[in-house]
Amino acid sequence: MTITYRFSTPIYPSNILYVNIIPNYTCINNCVFCSRPRTKKDFHKPNIYETKAGTSLYLKKSPTLKEIITEINYNIDKNDKELAIIGLGEPLIHLPKVIQILKYVKKNYKIKTRIDTNGLVDCIYNNSAKKLKNARLDEIRISLNATNEKDYLKLCRPKYKDAWPKLLKFIKDCKNEEINTFVSFVVDYKNKKMKIDTSNKEDFVRFAKSLGIKKEKVILRKYLKPI
Ligand code: SF4
Repeated sequence: MTITYRFSTPIYPSNILYVNIIPNYTCINNCVFCSRPRTKKDFHKPNIYETKAGTSLYLKKSPTLKEIITEINYNIDKNDKELAIIGLGEPLIHLPKVIQILKYVKKNYKIKTRIDTNGLVDCIYNNSAKKLKNARLDEIRISLNATNEKDYLKLCRPKYKDAWPKLLKFIKDCKNEEINTFVSFVVDYKNKKMKIDTSNKEDFVRFAKSLGIKKEKVILRKYLKPI
């Protein structure tokens, strides 16, 4: 079971230790452009993320805190600059465990902490941004992907009805808590049948700015077809 990993491509800095805690590639969204395996029959087929990571991230169950800490202690390198809690799926479904990991890491290592998330954690828990700040999270990258609720529902197909307002509030909360906050959009995804076209990059940047996110903190991720 792979709990910690590094990217095996030269494009990614090698001084980031990634931590995977997500069982069964679980997410509370079902984005049209997502390349994670979504059904059991896809669990062991190749996908873009695991190919880049050079390992399978399939976990039958979320590892215990003890298992995670043991893996971190064993694999962290003195030259590591960052510990990033990211897997295939949504890590903040496990917010209480994430908080404990962050606290442990900050107490024991001088390292930046980061989480990549769909930003819907407040659909499950309360005051998540404050809890993350108190656990000393340094940076968060939140998938926003749309400039209005209608497009968001079409693109990301969230499981929770109030996903869009909760997402926007979470972005603002993270900023207000002074966590270094980035938002991301998948660009150049086109689906004629669903009338989806995510190529208007200027609109994305404008919308992010309206939420208080500076242009340099907007990540535009080019859509890559599944392999
Ligand atoms: S939020 Fe991320 S992991 Fe979840 S379905 Fe969307 S792209 Fe996939």
